Amino acid sequence: MHNYSFNKDTLAGKTILVTGAGDGIGRTAAKTFASCGATVILLGRTVKKLEAVYDEIVAAGGPEPAIVPLDLKGATKTHYQGLNATIVEQFGKLDGLLHNAGVLGVLSPFEHIDHDSWNEIMQINVTAQFMLTKALMPALKRAAQPSIVFTSSGVGRQGRAFWGPYAVSKFATEGLAQVMADEYEGTHVRVNVINPGATRTTMRSKAYPAEDASKLKTAEQLMPTYVYFMADDSIGITNQSVNAQ
Ligand code: NDP
Repeated sequence: MHNYSFNKDTLAGKTILVTGAGDGIGRTAAKTFASCGATVILLGRTVKKLEAVYDEIVAAGGPEPAIVPLDLKGATKTHYQGLNATIVEQFGKLDGLLHNAGVLGVLSPFEHIDHDSWNEIMQINVTAQFMLTKALMPALKRAAQPSIVFTSSGVGRQGRAFWGPYAVSKFATEGLAQVMADEYEGTHVRVNVINPGATRTTMRSKAYPAEDASKLKTAEQLMPTYVYFMADDSIGITNQSVNAQ
């Protein structure tokens, strides 16, 4: 998986939605999926960033992507259901869903956790994933071998001081993935989780402002695992929670 080799046809004919596609790991995943032949749906909250990714994909000769400007903090059932209808109408099906968007919040001692920021992190990192996945199930089920991938973290498997709601949201993500994987076992829907591990992005630099980022893995280095879970080579693999590093 870490050495999975892929080429310009590995994801040919597939439509894959990536959340948080404007920056960090999501941006790299979207560009990489497109370079493997996938039509990518770029979902995120900052349109300028999504447009830049769109331009880069088109300039590289990839299939023309779609842009979905959506803030997962305030998005409603109506937004998500509308998205499902649009995907079915434009692409006929959804082959892959990468839940990548997430927020860190403020790292702080337990007694300083603010109720509003707790709710906001849960909304973006957990509830939005539930709502989006539920709404997109009709489009996903129309695909021959749909793959749903969630993004976890080391602190989503072992709690750590000061990581408060972020850590709890990643435990919930692991839980949601396990519930879904168990429920869809034996069907054509597969559900897996990737923990990217320490990666050179804005989020990482917020969590560890003093570290030497040049020593960290880049998002590009994680891509074999990300492409593997979207590719037909992972058909039949479900309910796994893996490290990309
Ligand atoms: P970044 O902060 O670099 O990128 C996160 C992306 O999610 C951005 O494009 C951001 O949009 C988007 N996003 C955030 N909030 C919302 C929202 N409300 N609605 C829509 N989009 C939103 O993070 P990373 O690339 O580092 O992280 C990607 C995933 O990997 C996250 O789930 C993170 O928890 C996980 N992870 C990362 C690790 C690391 O070391 N980097 C380690 C372990 C896990 P915008 O650019 O507009 O802000």
